[in-house]
Amino acid sequence: MSEHLEEARREMVERHLRARGIHDERVLEAMGRLERHQFVDGPMMNRAYEDRALPIGQGQTISQPWIVALMTEALQLVGDERVLEVGTGSGYQAALLSRLCAKVYTIERHSELLIRARRIFETLELDNIISRRGDGSIGWPAEAPFDRIIVTAGAPQVPEALVRQLAIGGRLVLPVGDRREQELKVIDRLSESAFRGRSAGSCAFVPLLGKEGWSPNQPG
Ligand code: SAH
Repeated sequence: MSEHLEEARREMVERHLRARGIHDERVLEAMGRLERHQFVDGPMMNRAYEDRALPIGQGQTISQPWIVALMTEALQLVGDERVLEVGTGSGYQAALLSRLCAKVYTIERHSELLIRARRIFETLELDNIISRRGDGSIGWPAEAPFDRIIVTAGAPQVPEALVRQLAIGGRLVLPVGDRREQELKVIDRLSESAFRGRSAGSCAFVPLLGKEGWSPNQPG
């Protein structure tokens, strides 16, 4: 079973990531090592290396490997950064970041998901991840500023709080759009007041719910 999964993981990296334009060798190497099947439930394990989002409970999903790779590459991590992730979910993205930067701060609004993710962080001995339950749309003011911020849920607009918590020279990567489809935005903070943004393609994330996200009570 594990040999079969290892082979599937290698193929995921070559066929879905490298062949489709992911170049950052550190990202490719880390995704080749990180066992995505550990972040999904038993019945989903055999599908863990398909290039698709999978259900993780609470109506949430672990993102598609291609999007995880694209967003992680866009962060341009060299290893010494403090990174904020909004939307811990399964913990897969946080675990990947933990192997590519100095320290990961991750926030999740569902305590059930957070508890499960923490268990995996412990098992994998990922000691540089700090996690908490809460509304990540307002960031983590006590630990700001961050060198990088990644939001793994779709926001209706760029949350002001996250922009404020970005270090000068820092970068924010997030999906912005409506509830069904978003555009991946990459925003650089050049100085106290100057920003530069670009678009990196379209994507479909579950909604970011909270003060600077969608209203949790709104249907659809
Ligand atoms: N990065 C995750 C993807 C999770 S899907 C992974 O690798 O598996 C997005 C997650 O964002 C969901 O778990 C959802 O509960 C969470 N989320 C949505 N709005 C949030 C908010 N305001 N603060 C924190 N987490 C939020």
